[in-house]
Amino acid sequence: MIIKHSQRHIPLKRYGQNFLVNKNTIQDIVKIINPNIKQILVEIGPGLGALTKSMCQFLEKLIVIEVDPNLLLLLKKRSFYSKLIVFCQDALRFNFIDLFHKKNQLIRIFGNLPYNISTSLIILLFKQIQVIQDMNFMLQKEVAERLISIPGNKSYGRLSIISQYYCNIKILLNVIPEDFRPIPKVHSVFINLTPHTNSPYFVHDINILSYITKNAFQNRRKILRHSLKNFFSKKELLQLEINPNLRAENISIFQYCQLSNYLYKKLNTTLKTN
Ligand code: SAM
Repeated sequence: MIIKHSQRHIPLKRYGQNFLVNKNTIQDIVKIINPNIKQILVEIGPGLGALTKSMCQFLEKLIVIEVDPNLLLLLKKRSFYSKLIVFCQDALRFNFIDLFHKKNQLIRIFGNLPYNISTSLIILLFKQIQVIQDMNFMLQKEVAERLISIPGNKSYGRLSIISQYYCNIKILLNVIPEDFRPIPKVHSVFINLTPHTNSPYFVHDINILSYITKNAFQNRRKILRHSLKNFFSKKELLQLEINPNLRAENISIFQYCQLSNYLYKKLNTTLKTN
């Protein structure tokens, strides 16, 4: 079942405007999110309200963040508009920590994300992870594959490590291009990211983990002994039971955490002795 939008709006490519039009897919997504009236839900990019309308059936209030003021003018005409708390702004500049303090409750975030900002947005949300209950996003299939990828895979990289460090990630639905208007060139998937309650990983300083992975993956072909030579000697890698001749894509998240904590201790010792 395809929704025909009566509103006239020329979709803007720069805002990644591919609107969901398949009612069954929308229903599946709402079932996956499973909204509850007591929860604080935030939708990123409500667009013409495809998901918003269905979600509002289960909620008294829904916070929406939309960058395109023309879409908000169209949303204003819809019956569910009175349930919306609207922020007309770039989601990349939204402060979820402030919202948490106002509501005193963890936040659930969802959306059919504009593909051009999806990765930066997810990374930004990780920095505010302590106030997030979960995230449910429509993403380009390739981006989702990078998020869940494991060592040895071509798509395994910094994004996989940082994402899995913070969250348990599940792909829950495959969505075909024909479910959107305009029809995108890529396939999509709907995923859930839930912050770990008992994390299998620990680092003293996430910035060090980020820095090490940046260097390791800068040139995927290089072996670790070369790509990480500024931080670890061959002897130190061996001491950590990491084969210095392996490439970045062969090291597990746990091993990256080990490297990160080793470097953290080393830097702290150097600082203390100087
Ligand atoms: N939720 C609608 C749907 O499923 O049909 C629209 C999804 S469309 C893929 C992405 C939406 O995000 C558009 O409404 C677009 O204007 C909005 N958007 C794009 N960049 C944004 C940003 N930086 N901050 C907030 N919203 C943004």
